[in-house]
Amino acid sequence: NRKAIIAGNWKMNKTATEAKALISELIPAVKDAGCEVVICVPFTDLVTAVEMTKGTNIHVGAENVHFEKSGAFTGEISADMLTDLGVEYVVIGHSERRQYFAETNETVNKRTKAALAGGLKPIICVGESLDQREQGVTEELVRMQVKIALNGVTADELKNVVIAYEPIWAIGTGKTATADQAEEVCAAIRKVVGELYGEDAAKALTVQYGGSMNPKNAEELLSKPDVDGGLIGGASLKADQFAVIVDAA
Ligand code: 13P
Repeated sequence: NRKAIIAGNWKMNKTATEAKALISELIPAVKDAGCEVVICVPFTDLVTAVEMTKGTNIHVGAENVHFEKSGAFTGEISADMLTDLGVEYVVIGHSERRQYFAETNETVNKRTKAALAGGLKPIICVGESLDQREQGVTEELVRMQVKIALNGVTADELKNVVIAYEPIWAIGTGKTATADQAEEVCAAIRKVVGELYGEDAAKALTVQYGGSMNPKNAEELLSKPDVDGGLIGGASLKADQFAVIVDAA
């Protein structure tokens, strides 16, 4: 009996001042949620987010974490720095990080292990480009991304892992995967996790869909058996839209 999780990924949006305004709208809007609600916010918004959401049903995540514990890594943020603030989740391997910041399956794996060791719950992002989909390699590619990301992750640690299927062609484009396309890949992700960790672990894993999920299409996407939630970009920046998606889960 797995958890449905709706997570906002704010990306590089909202100053701390703006975050304050959005979170004050979000708190009442999602207070009766039947699913877990997470907001993943820029590092500079984390303190505000953690403080404002104390005693509410909103959980807070970061958008990245470095894989070393500490040291000479100018500009980086460690898992301990995040957990010390009260941060609970972290997005890892978002396609924007893979595309613009040279993130690879190997660094995704290192970050995943560091996050878990530091007590964070990683939301690991996988997904294919339009080219890869057209070449018919989506499933193979996503299987490989999942396998490498989870390399060395124990069965016990897997309980804290969330995987988000985000087809790159659907991110920020207004082009959503059909519910059947989302279901097909989310099911394939569960299958490969089953091969690695067994049936029960696969059944307990939360697999999200992300990519132009909005108040209009959320219900249909979330009605699919293997789609256990969403990772929401644009629509997570508007409290009313985010709340409709939360209600659909
Ligand atoms: P959009 O919802 O804006 O398409 O972004 C999806 C996403 O990348 C969430 O991580």
